[in-house]
Amino acid sequence: MKLSETKHGTTLVLSVKGRIDMETAAEFGDELLAKIKVEGIEKIVLDFSGVGFVSSACLRALMLGLKQARELKVAFAIAAMQPKVLEIFQLSRIDTLIPCFATIEQAMNKVATSAAAQQVVRGENAMSVHFWGTRGSLPAPLTLQQLRNKLASALVAGVGMNLDTIERAHSFLESLPFHIGGTYGGSTSCVELSASENNVVLLDMGSGARLAGQEALRRLAGRAGEFHIFMSHLHWDHIMGFPFFTPAYIPGQRIHIYGCHDQMENAFRRQQMEPSFPVDLSKMAANIEFVRIEPGRVHNIAGYQVSAKLQQHPGDAYGYRFERNGKCVVYSTDAEHKPENNQDAAAFIEFYRDADLVIFDAMYSLADSVSVKEDWGHSSNVVGVELCQQARVKRLALVHHDPANDDATIERLCHDALRLEEITRQDSRLEVLAAYDGLEIQI
Ligand SMILES: [Zn+2]
Ligand SMILES: [Zn+2]
Repeated sequence: MKLSETKHGTTLVLSVKGRIDMETAAEFGDELLAKIKVEGIEKIVLDFSGVGFVSSACLRALMLGLKQARELKVAFAIAAMQPKVLEIFQLSRIDTLIPCFATIEQAMNKVATSAAAQQVVRGENAMSVHFWGTRGSLPAPLTLQQLRNKLASALVAGVGMNLDTIERAHSFLESLPFHIGGTYGGSTSCVELSASENNVVLLDMGSGARLAGQEALRRLAGRAGEFHIFMSHLHWDHIMGFPFFTPAYIPGQRIHIYGCHDQMENAFRRQQMEPSFPVDLSKMAANIEFVRIEPGRVHNIAGYQVSAKLQQHPGDAYGYRFERNGKCVVYSTDAEHKPENNQDAAAFIEFYRDADLVIFDAMYSLADSVSVKEDWGHSSNVVGVELCQQARVKRLALVHHDPANDDATIERLCHDALRLEEITRQDSRLEVLAAYDGLEIQI
C-alpha cells in the first residue's frame, strides 16, 4: 500500500495504491488521520483508483477518519473506486456515510458545488418547508391490502395507455388521484424549515425525524451541524423519533431542543430509560441541550424570529411563528379551537396574520371535533380554512392526519376544505393542501 498527495488550494487529494487489508489498514488509517489534522485543509478526496482490494479493517479505518474529519469540520469524500471495491462499499453501506464519486474531478467539484448550491437553496432569501412526518398520534404504515388496492386501481386505469417505459408509467401515476398514485405516508410529526450554512431547523421529533436526521447528515457531508429543534409538546407521537435521530449519536454534532414545557428534558430522558429503550439519553454522543423559551416573546434563533403561543391541548401544546426576510411560516399542530370561543379565535387570527404558510392540525372532521372527539385536543379542516381566511394567510397545509383515515379519506377531507374555501372566499384566495410525508414547499 502506497500513499501520495497533491494539494489544490484547501483540498488535499490522497492517492492510494495497492491493497488495504488486515496488514496495511493500520498504516493507512494512521496516515489518513495525520492528513486530516494538517492545518488549513478543508476537504480531503481519497483517490481510490489504484486500490484493488479493501477488507473490513480498511472500512473501519475510514470510519475513524470520517469521525475525526467531522470533529475538525473537514469535508471527506472517496473517488474513482474500482467496481469490486465500490461493491464492497455498497454491500457494507459505507457509501451512505461517506460520499463516493466516479471521478476525482466530480468529487472536488461536487463538494464545492454542493456547498454553493446549499447557499442558494438554503440561503438567506429562499425558504423551503419539508414535511418528514404528517401523521397524528401513531405511525400508520400502508397495509398490504391498501397497497394492493392502489396497484389494482392503477392497473385498471392504465389499460390501453401504452405504458411501456418507466418514465411513461411515472407520468401516468402523476395523473391519477393522489390516493391511488400516491400516499400521505405514515410517519408522525416532523417538519423542516430551511436554514443557512450548517444549521438545521426541525419542528417536532415524531417518527419522521429518523429520515430528517439522515438527510441532514448527508447534506452536512462530514461537517458538524447545529440542530435547532422546536417542540410543540411532549406527547409520545412528537418525541418518538428522537431515539432514532442519528445526529444525536455523533460526537461533534450540536443539538438544541427548544420548548415551553418545564418537563421537556424529563420527557426525553424518560422515553430512553430502561426498560423502554436500550440507549440512555446520557449515552448519546452529540452535545444535547434543552432550552426553555417563553411564549409571547420574540427569540432570534438560526436566522429566524420565533415566537410561541399556547394552544388548547391536553397537557398544553405550543404553536410557533417563524419569520425571516419578510417570509412567515406558522406551525400550529395539536390544537383544539372551540367554535364558541371568540377570544381564542381572535388570538389565533393574530398569530397567523398574513403568514405565507400555516401548518394546521386538521385531524378530525368538524362534526367529530365538536361531538365524540370534543376535548381531545385537535381541530378540523373547516376551522383551519376559517381561521386562515380571516388572517389572510396565503397557504394552509393540513397535517396530523388521523391514523384511522386512509389516503382516500384524507384526500376527501382536503377536497372538502378546497370547496369550502371556494364558496366562502372573500377577496383573496387561500391555497389549501393536505401535506404528505416527503412534500417540499418553496416559499
Ligand atoms: Zn400529536
Ligand atoms: Zn398531542
